[in-house]
Amino acid sequence: MHQRTVPCQYLAPQQIAEALEILSQYGKEIKVIAGGTDLLVQYYDRLYEINNWLDLKNIKELKDIRINKNQIEIGAMVTHAQLESSEDIKKYYPVLSQAAADIGSPQIRNRGTIGGNIVNASPAGDLLAPLMAYDAQFRLLSIKGEKIVPAEEFFIGPKKTILEPAQLLTQIILPLPSERTYGSWIKIGKRKALIIATITLALVVEMAEDNKTVKEARTCLGSVAPTPIEIKEVRKKMAGRNFNQLDFAELGQIVEDKISPIDDIRGTREYRKDVAKEIMINALEEIDSACGGCINE
Ligand SMILES: Cc1cc2nc3c(=O)[nH]c(=O)nc-3n(C[C@H](O)[C@H](O)[C@H](O)COP(=O)(O)OP(=O)(O)OC[C@H]3O[C@@H](n4cnc5c(N)ncnc54)[C@H](O)[C@@H]3O)c2cc1C
Repeated sequence: MHQRTVPCQYLAPQQIAEALEILSQYGKEIKVIAGGTDLLVQYYDRLYEINNWLDLKNIKELKDIRINKNQIEIGAMVTHAQLESSEDIKKYYPVLSQAAADIGSPQIRNRGTIGGNIVNASPAGDLLAPLMAYDAQFRLLSIKGEKIVPAEEFFIGPKKTILEPAQLLTQIILPLPSERTYGSWIKIGKRKALIIATITLALVVEMAEDNKTVKEARTCLGSVAPTPIEIKEVRKKMAGRNFNQLDFAELGQIVEDKISPIDDIRGTREYRKDVAKEIMINALEEIDSACGGCINE
């Protein structure tokens, strides 16, 4: 059996500043660990050799969800279970709360964190499309200072992000939505629990004051491209239109036309395209009934 001979360093600071100092010293020679639910699987599969660990588990500041003026700040170490049960997340970001509830199993939801889901950057990461749909920004810190990056710019490929070795993701920042914001979350997989998504869709629609005219709509999908994506053509098509005049089938078709998924063991390209259209229509119908059946007025 393979023997590890290099001594390991395990560091678990209590303050963000200490963690940043450690990261600046070690750079690529240390691996940040949050819940370990992605990292330890990759480690035991020998996907890479890790000798030094920076564990974030003692940094209390990273475990808070707090409202700050017109935005909410979610600490990177907030677990899926916390997201699922937080009253603020349920109230303002139901799509995110439902997506967290759909992750893995209770054990995984108790350990896995929002920060780990983001930095792992799997195209199938369940929180990514909801975060993009709520216009999330990520706070990245290093000893050199802070960078706030929109979710859309953070992901650059499967398991690839712009995060540098000396940077830590500390917070996820979401603008507080207006009262007339509606959302829908759909995850398609081969069974209900413990499943990697074949396709995910997060649709968030903000209505104008009349509660009928679409002010802004974001349609974001996971598992259909190397990164989570927003279908911007749908946003353009819906903005300023009365919800009851929208052609749901046409919007579903736009989603189908704009994605180019791959074939893999979870589904073929054609299957994903067909399903994308159907779930877009379902999501629009769900929003229609949530905002009082705009379509029938
Ligand atoms: C059985 C099982 C079922 C699963 N089911 C699902 C599922 O249904 N949906 C889903 O989306 N995922 C699922 N996952 C994957 C995983 O649980 C999630 O992606 C989880 O959110 C990862 O978080 P973590 O805290 O465990 O990350 P870790 O494994 O600790 O870290 C993941 C990566 O992020 C980096 N990292 C973590 N936090 C930070 C930070 N703050 N700053 C910088 N870098 C950081 C680490 O260095 C590592 O590269 C499953 C995993 C398992 C084992």
